Amino acid sequence: MSEPTEESDEVTGESDGSTADADEVSERGTETSQDAAIPIEDVDLDSSTPLEVDGLRKTFGGITAVDGVSFEVERGSLTGLIGPNGAGKSTTFNLITGMHEPDDGTVRFDGEDVTGLAPHEIANRGLARTFQIARELEEMTVLENMMLAPKGQIGESLWRSVTPGFRDDVQRQETEQLERVWEVLDFFEIDHLAEEYAGNLSGGQRKLLEMARALLTDPEMLLLDEPFAGVNPSLEKRLLEHIHELREEGYTFLIVEHDMDLIMNNCERVIVMHQGRVLKDGTPAEVKESEDVIEAYLGGEV
Ligand code: ADP
Ligand code: MG
Repeated sequence: MSEPTEESDEVTGESDGSTADADEVSERGTETSQDAAIPIEDVDLDSSTPLEVDGLRKTFGGITAVDGVSFEVERGSLTGLIGPNGAGKSTTFNLITGMHEPDDGTVRFDGEDVTGLAPHEIANRGLARTFQIARELEEMTVLENMMLAPKGQIGESLWRSVTPGFRDDVQRQETEQLERVWEVLDFFEIDHLAEEYAGNLSGGQRKLLEMARALLTDPEMLLLDEPFAGVNPSLEKRLLEHIHELREEGYTFLIVEHDMDLIMNNCERVIVMHQGRVLKDGTPAEVKESEDVIEAYLGGEV
């Protein structure tokens, strides 16, 4: 097993106590999908837009990291947010998921203004993000990590667990939680690692576990920041297959990535950021043809 990879560009924690309804997970097929781009006509794109960001701005001291960013993400789509290092991708991600509060602008999820809400409140509404496995969780097994992931409200509400009549509910929920944990582990093909310490997982296996934990919140949309960083090619392919499979089941994805080719080959919609702004927003073909994009990538560190 290789050493876990370090990721540098954001501070994340497991301590925000995210909770979400632990309703049943949808049935997941076992067939894998191709990792090439999926033709847009095969995707049932609802006209509604679960995520809308409008005029987002964030400064750190003298640096304007995000400078008036607006875009929408369509339901059921796999949308990529790309740009050279320092473009403002992670800051945008953090503004959407409640890790940072914007200086200006709004974030709407499912028509509701979620600007400035705490990360767990946003997660509760069905907008999930992955969290790096924190140090203390490395000393726990994969299964323990999953059981500690955000779960249903009923089991966590103490008064309910001691109120006559609710006890059965709590036990039923715990059983459902465990069933769901195994279902998700099986889906990501890491069920055989259930008793392995998280700290012993390879970079790619950790990414699978991070996604598995995020799925336990029963989200509607997943935001992933550089999900392929430190992942070897074969696991990268598997991770992509899982993302395509989940997307075919109706999940919406926004993937932040600096690897342009990977996004071009896997997303039907690409938003390019540069120097805190949206440089281009369109299909991979439209983005590829953009002189501005070519210049931004050639002109800067990629
Ligand atoms: P990307 O993810 O596209 O590489 P970031 O959003 O991480 O870009 O960074 C955008 C800019 O904001 C960079 O200049 C970066 O140094 C700066 N920045 C990001 N986060 C912070 C922070 N917490 N404090 C100060 N500057 C920051
Ligand atoms: Mg980043």
